[in-house]
Formats: sequence, C-alpha cells, structure tokens
Amino acid sequence: MNEKRGNYNLLEERWIPVLMTDGRFCRLGIKDALTQAGRIRQIAASNPMDRVAILRFLLALLYWCRGNPPQEGSVTSVDSFPADWFSKLDDNKDCFNLLGDGKRFYQDCTAQRPQAVTQLIQEIPAGNNFWHFRHSTDKRSGLCPACCAMGLLRLPLFSVSGLSGPKEPNLMAGINGVPPVYVVPWEKSLFSTLLANWATCTNIGEPSWIQPGIGQIQNNDVPLLAGLTLLSRRVLLHDPVKESVTCIGCGEKTAVILTCEFQTAGKQENDKWNDPHVVYLDRKPRKTLRGADLTSAGKFRMDRPWPDLLARIVETRKPVSLLIVGFATNKAKNVDVWERLVTVPQNHSNSTSLYQWQDKSRGLEDWLREIVRGRRKTRKDDARIAVSAIAAIRPHVEGRVSSKVGELLAGGDDAWERAAREYRPMMCAIASSLSPGFTTAAVERRQQIASVMPNMRQKQIQLKKNSRKKGGDK
Ligand SMILES: [Zn+2]
Repeated sequence: MNEKRGNYNLLEERWIPVLMTDGRFCRLGIKDALTQAGRIRQIAASNPMDRVAILRFLLALLYWCRGNPPQEGSVTSVDSFPADWFSKLDDNKDCFNLLGDGKRFYQDCTAQRPQAVTQLIQEIPAGNNFWHFRHSTDKRSGLCPACCAMGLLRLPLFSVSGLSGPKEPNLMAGINGVPPVYVVPWEKSLFSTLLANWATCTNIGEPSWIQPGIGQIQNNDVPLLAGLTLLSRRVLLHDPVKESVTCIGCGEKTAVILTCEFQTAGKQENDKWNDPHVVYLDRKPRKTLRGADLTSAGKFRMDRPWPDLLARIVETRKPVSLLIVGFATNKAKNVDVWERLVTVPQNHSNSTSLYQWQDKSRGLEDWLREIVRGRRKTRKDDARIAVSAIAAIRPHVEGRVSSKVGELLAGGDDAWERAAREYRPMMCAIASSLSPGFTTAAVERRQQIASVMPNMRQKQIQLKKNSRKKGGDK
C-alpha cells in the first residue's frame, strides 16, 4: 500500500490476481489488467465467485470508459485494449480509493454497524458460524486491502438476506435476489473473455462508484451499469493495523484491516433488471436457476437441475465456452460454491438429450420404488429407502456427468449412454444393500436394481413439454 497517501487506489495498486499466458502469477491494478488483457490467461482467484465478480467489474469499467463495443472486427485486430481508451479512469481517480479520507470505492461513510471485516468473504467463518477446517477469530483475523476490494466486488452478486442483530433492519439480498447461477462467456484470455461479454446495450447508465451513498433503482428499464454495480450492503472499511499481520484471505503478510461498518442497503431485488449473466427459465413469475443445497437430506433437491439451464443456453447462444458459477445458500447460510467450465461445441446435438436426461433421471425414484415394492407390498419403508438411495447417489452422478457436458453434446447417443452407465457402480451397491441374500428372488431383484439408470436410447416425443409441466423439482 502507498503509506504516504494511505488511500490504496485500485487503479494503481496491484490487487487483481492474474495468471499470465506465460504461466506467471502476479497481481495487477485495474489499468494494467485492462491494457495487458491479451497477455492474461485468466483471473487467478481460487474462489470462482471472485472470478465472476472481478470479470463483471472489469466489464463495467469497459462500458463506462468506451460505451458500446466498436464495430465488429475493429477490436480483434489488436491483442489488448489501448491505454488511451481509459483516460476516464484517470479523470475519476478518486472514485477508486479504497481507504483514506474523501470518496471511497464501493463504500458508504454513513454506515454504522461495527463488524469483523471477514463478513466480506463468505468462505471465512465470522460471527457464530461453524469453524470447520478454517479457523478465524473476529476482530483478530483480518483481510489485506486486496482481499477487501474483492469482497466488496462480490456484494452486488452474492449477498443473501438474513437477520443482522437486535434493533437492526434485516440484511437483504442484492438486485438478483437469492443469488442465481451466473453464466459467463469465458475465453482463452482475459481480452477475449471481455470481448465475448461486451455486447451492444441500449441503456448503459452510470455505475454506483461515481455517486456517493446507495439508493434504490426506480427506473422501469434498469440501466446496465447501475444493475451491475448496485451495492447490497453499506460498508465502510476501518483503517488497517500498523504492524504486518497475515491476511486470512490470501496469506499475504501486510497491514490488514480487522473491522468495518457493515449494514443492509435495504431492498434491492428488482425484477425489472435483466442481468446479462443470468439465464431466466421462466418469465412470469420470473425464475432463475440456483445452486443446489446438497446438505439438505432426503429427496434430491435442486431448484432447477443443470440440464434445464444448459438446454436453455444451447437453444439461445452461439457455440462458446462458459463459466457457470452457482452459490448455494439456505436463507442466510452460505452452503457451497459450484462451478463448471462448459464448452458448447460447434456441431452440438440439440437440447433434446439434455431434457431427456433430466426427465429420465427424475423417473429413477419411481422405477426403483416399483422394483423394491415388488412382492412385498406390506413393507412401505422399502419404498422410502429407495427414494433416499437415489437421492444419495444423484448428486455424485450428476456432478460427474455435468462435468463432461461438452463431450456429451458433441458425442451424441453413445456419449449419453456412457453417461447413464455412471449410475451402474452406485446401483450395484444399492442393490446389495436393498436386496441381500442368495435366494433366486433376491438375486433377481439385485439384478433389476443394478440395471436402473436413465434410458437414453428410447427417444421421447415432447420431452421438453413434459419436463417443464410441473415446474421442476420441488
Ligand atoms: Zn489478502
């Protein structure tokens, strides 16, 4: 940090973690990241939430400085953005001060609710959250200014609602409500990733960093920059400690910040806002896909399964690589972050197989229940156990299959059959458990159970209609 000025300016300080195309890791300021974007392989943050948040922030800067993209073909002739595109950043340098007197980046000087600064980073336990593998003590463990900046950038995307304490208004979610799954075109360099995301927009508007204070958006047509940068918390970082301490976020030994003011910014959820990185599954009432809470026991639960999301993408977008990031929450509880890098191939099969996979996977519970009931109609428990057994293995199988979705879309029916066989070892284990013994009936039933898997050979007509009829898994 520049101790003399003490303001930690994000244009110049080296805070964005990047992996260069030559394999080097380093941190860069905003201006260097934009002007060297062609030499940057990607944003090198271990948590995908940061990768999405930083990319969206850089994209917002690009819109703010240049407006809509120039005519097709005129940018791809160079391999990074020219430095003279970003003179607006220098003209508004004070908007990007993280600390110090005067304007503060993504902060509100009127905020009044002292909290541990680790509230900004979801994966670090704060308050009375459980300590699992990472131990942190409020007001003794701190974050370096770079980690604080990344935490502030997460606010518009990943805030959840929940209680904030006695006599305090509840914390509320950001503009997208309960964090949806974000789908971001993701190319082989930061430069091409930004270009892939930079689409012509009719209402660009102004970002929140130029206006002090945090307000609600009243417009019917929410401007792009206002929507991308609307803050869901009023935060004010306190001064860093004098001595060097290890940052609990990144491990850097530096002058860390221990506390901040942290308050709700009121209701920001806005169904007039069309987020460029959210896939809306239904329009009325509007529904988005959310990350699956795999900690909930019983039935396999996911607001909308991943094939529905991918089918929608395949139907509406050009072949492209996509980073898909879902932050699973349970009210105010942070549960899990899920990410997939999916390449939709040039010659992909259509979305029918995805809908078929979804439909057939849902039917497995009924299939197994029928087999288990079989001749022992009195044992209702068996049927319940069958449902739980499928619920227990589906997250594992869906995880493996969704990681190969690019191959599946390119590979056709054979590839989908191989995907269905991912169920085989799991179903064999379930078969031994549900039908033990060596009688003819037990062995026969074991074979039946072991053969339960989505039937991807049998094409169904109007799968798409069927799969939506009931509004997804409940
Ligand atoms: Zn740090």
